[in-house]
Amino acid sequence: MRAVVTGAAGFLGSHLCDRLLAEGWEVLGLDNLITGATENLRHLEGNPKFKFQQADVSAALRVEGSVGYVLHFASPASPPDYLKHPIETMRVGSAGTINALELAREKGAKFFLSSTSECYGDPEVSPQHENYWGNVNPVGPRSVYDEAKRFSEALTMGFHRHYGLDTHIVRIFNTYGPRMRLNDGRALPNFVYQALSGSPVTIYGDGKQTRSFCYVSDLIEGMYRLMLSEEHLPVNVGNPNEITILEFAERVRSHFPNAPALVFEPLPQDDPKRRCPDITKAKRLLKWEPKVNLEDGLRMTIAYFKDAYAKTAAK
Ligand code: NAD
Ligand code: UDP
Repeated sequence: MRAVVTGAAGFLGSHLCDRLLAEGWEVLGLDNLITGATENLRHLEGNPKFKFQQADVSAALRVEGSVGYVLHFASPASPPDYLKHPIETMRVGSAGTINALELAREKGAKFFLSSTSECYGDPEVSPQHENYWGNVNPVGPRSVYDEAKRFSEALTMGFHRHYGLDTHIVRIFNTYGPRMRLNDGRALPNFVYQALSGSPVTIYGDGKQTRSFCYVSDLIEGMYRLMLSEEHLPVNVGNPNEITILEFAERVRSHFPNAPALVFEPLPQDDPKRRCPDITKAKRLLKWEPKVNLEDGLRMTIAYFKDAYAKTAAK
């Protein structure tokens, strides 16, 4: 019952560590802090079942002792983050994933890959089901992330088929919640930061593009069930409530009495026009579906962001 989590100091990695510890696992968290922060793990200090090491998993991945599960979450995930760190993103999706898979093979451990709805690119099919192969521009700016994740999936299936490694792949759709970085550039942190600081709320394009936002506790529950399942092919985990970005911005603004105005800016290249998970497979295999509605999720996340904003303002 010892798990290694790469990307442990990130938004999702830190919540995953909490869940594994709550389920009785010992956890070794690894992170090079390129986009994460040890602050996300502060509450685990002094927990004898948790250890943290600052390490770049793209360089090498040596772990002493027995390991039962390797969960690979290391990778910049926000578009501005992966556009700022394109080579590191491709490295962690390629060399980092091989290192994590080799660690699992050496230890006789199971392996879990955090993949993404970005594998579907700018989809021509909606909602996206797991058998859709996607519409990715292989040389566009987003390809540093999309193709790295597609390669990670191919590597994982290669290790499963060639070595018989027990592997699992989750395709995560837009997830939000406490411990997202207020300045990570994704839609929700941007909108909240703008509302808190009184700067205009930026809508890219006409705001008619859609996303489907899943609260972090729902995602973690779905992923934990997948970890324990027998499924090796990718499974979508996300919330199927599709909403335009314009509506989403209005929902966020409604939480602020003096919310600033909207401002329209150019749509980034290859920004997907629609994104919505088909979760039929997760419902059937994992008996899972999301429970937290957008209003409750926003309330909990905005409370976290207000606190984080007050702390930075006080510094
Ligand atoms: P995040 O940026 O908060 O966390 C990623 C963590 O990985 C950070 O702590 C970062 O420092 C670490 N990391 C990056 N490269 C590393 C390296 N070479 N060695 C060690 N650590 C490294 O992002 P997140 O939202 O928590 O995403 C976590 C994972 O989930 C990523 O793999 C991402 O692709 C995937 N994902 C997330 C979402 C989402 O909506 N949050 C959606 C789809 C997929
Ligand atoms: N977006 C926006 N304003 C912002 C940040 C993002 O309109 O300040 C849009 C972005 O163009 C995309 C959607 O919101 O269409 C979701 O963006 P995010 O970066 O959160 O994640 P993505 O789903 O693109 O990976």
